[in-house]
Amino acid sequence: MFINGIWIDSSDEKKIPVFNPATGSVISEVPSASIEDVSFAAESAKESFVAGTWSRITPGERAAVLLKVAQMIEDRTQELAKLETSISGKSIKQTLGYDLPYTVDNIRFIAGASRMLEGKAMGEYVQEGTSAIRREPIGVIGVITPWNYPLMMVAWRAFPALAMGNSVIVKPSSYTPLTTLELAKMMEKAGIPKGVFNVITGPGGKVGEELAKNKNVDMIAFTGSTEVGKRLSELGSSTLKKVSLELGGKAPFIVFSDADIDAATEGAIVGGLVNNGEDCANSTRYYVHESVKDKFTDLLVKKLMKVKVGDPMDPITDIGPLISSSHRDRVEGYIKKGLDQGGKLLYGGNRPTLRGMENGFFLNPAVIYTENQKSDIVQEEIFGPVFSVLPFSTYEEVISKSNDVIYGLGSSVWTKDVKTAMNAVKDLRFGTVWVNEHVPVPSEMPWAGYKQSGHGASLSAYSLEEFSYIKHVYFDLTGKVRKSWYYQIYGGQ
Ligand code: NAP
Repeated sequence: MFINGIWIDSSDEKKIPVFNPATGSVISEVPSASIEDVSFAAESAKESFVAGTWSRITPGERAAVLLKVAQMIEDRTQELAKLETSISGKSIKQTLGYDLPYTVDNIRFIAGASRMLEGKAMGEYVQEGTSAIRREPIGVIGVITPWNYPLMMVAWRAFPALAMGNSVIVKPSSYTPLTTLELAKMMEKAGIPKGVFNVITGPGGKVGEELAKNKNVDMIAFTGSTEVGKRLSELGSSTLKKVSLELGGKAPFIVFSDADIDAATEGAIVGGLVNNGEDCANSTRYYVHESVKDKFTDLLVKKLMKVKVGDPMDPITDIGPLISSSHRDRVEGYIKKGLDQGGKLLYGGNRPTLRGMENGFFLNPAVIYTENQKSDIVQEEIFGPVFSVLPFSTYEEVISKSNDVIYGLGSSVWTKDVKTAMNAVKDLRFGTVWVNEHVPVPSEMPWAGYKQSGHGASLSAYSLEEFSYIKHVYFDLTGKVRKSWYYQIYGGQ
C-alpha cells in the first residue's frame, strides 16, 4: 500500500489474492489493511491537507503534477492495458482502444478545467458592500472504487478531488487493485507531496467501512452498487460526512416504430455488451414497438451470433469473462429467474467451452423476450450480458415502463422523429439520455444519476464542484462605524 509517501504492508501482515478471471488462477496478492493502517492513512492525509503542501498551492501547480501523471499513463498504455485486462477480464481491444486513452483524456480535461473554475464574480448585491464566492477544498476524501473500470473510476473521482486541493485515500476493489497501485507509483514519480495521495487495499466491508467512519476523513466518494452506497450513507451520517454516490443503473433502450432497425440493433449490441455487460451504462431493457419487435429481435440475434466470446488478451475477442465465479452464478441465476417469470430464451445464456480457459468465468450473451415488466430481469441490475426485450404499443406506456425502476442513470431513444425524441428526453427520469446512440460521454459532460443511481456528478467541471466547499466573502464598502441596517439593534439613536 502507499501511505504518507511510503510503500508498506498491512500492519498485521494479512494479504488477499488477486485473480485472473480468464483462467481463474491467482496472479498476485496485495495487503489487506488493518484498522490501524486505515487510521494511519487518514491521519497522514489530514496532516498533508493542513500543512498546505498541496491544498494551498495554485491550481496551475497542481495541474502540472496531474498532467505529468496523465503523460506517464499514456506512455505506459500497452503495459497498463494488459494489466487491466488480466485483472478485469475485459477485452484488450477495449482497454487499449478505449479505457486507457479515455482515462488520460479525463485527467487532462480535469487538470485544465480546475484552472478556470468560475465562482460568481464580485457583485453589487447590496448598497453598502460587495460579495465574492470562493471555492475551497473539503479536506480528506476517501475514494472507494469498483472493479468494472479500475483505473478510470479513480480518474473520475480522485483526480477532480486532487485538482481542487484535497488529499485523497483510494480504496480500490479487491478484485482489481493492481492498476491503482501502479498509479500510486506514477503519482510518487510525478512529485505529489507525501500524504496527499494514498492507496489502501483490503475488503470493503472492513477497510471501506472504516474509512467512512473515520473522523479524519471529511468526505466519501463512492462508485459501486446501490446497496453498498446506502450502507456508506448510513455510516457517513455519524460524522455528517458528505457522501457522493455513483451507483447502479438499469438503462432502457427504446426503439420506436420509425427507428432505423439496422442502426438500433448495432447500437443495442454495443450498448449491452460493452465492458462484458458489466457497465453501469449498459442498455439492459430493450423496449421495442410491437410493429418492429420481430424484425428487431431477429436481427439482434443474427448479429449476436458473430460476437466472439474468448481470451480477453486476444485482439479479436469481443467480450471476455465475467469478473468472478460467484458473479457468473449470480448472472445465470437472473437468466433462470427471467425464464421462470414468463420469459422466453431467444439466444445464448450458456457457458462456452474455451480450450485452455476451462476455469475462466465465461458466459455467452443471453437474449430473453418477456412481457413481464415486474420480472427481476427487468427491475434489477444484473451487471452481465443479458438482453431483456419487451414490446410496447404507445409512447405513454413505454415512458412509464422505462421510468418504472429504482434506477436513473443512462437511457436511450431510437427514432427519426425529432418531436418524439425531444419529448422522451424531457420525460425520461435519467441522468443521461442518448438519442440514436448509447454509451458515449465526453470528458467535458457530466455523468450523474437520478433516483437510486446516486447523486453528484463525475466528469465535467461539475465534478470539481463536488469536491469543494463554497464560501461567501462579504466586504464592507462604507467604512462607516454605524451601517444603515444597525437600526435593528440601535433603533433611531
Ligand atoms: P460494490 O460491491 O458496491 O463494491 C464497490 C467498492 O466498494 C469496492 O471497492 C468494494 O470493496 C467496496 N465495498 C464493498 N462493501 C463495502 C462496504 N460495506 N463498505 C464500504 N465499501 C465496500 O460494487 P462492484 O461490484 O465493485 O461494482 C459494480 C457496481 O458499481 C454496479 O452496481 C455498477 O452499476 C456500479 N458502478 C456505477 C458507476 C457509476 O458511474 N454510477 C460506475 C461504475 C460502476 P471490495 O471489492 O473489497 O468488496
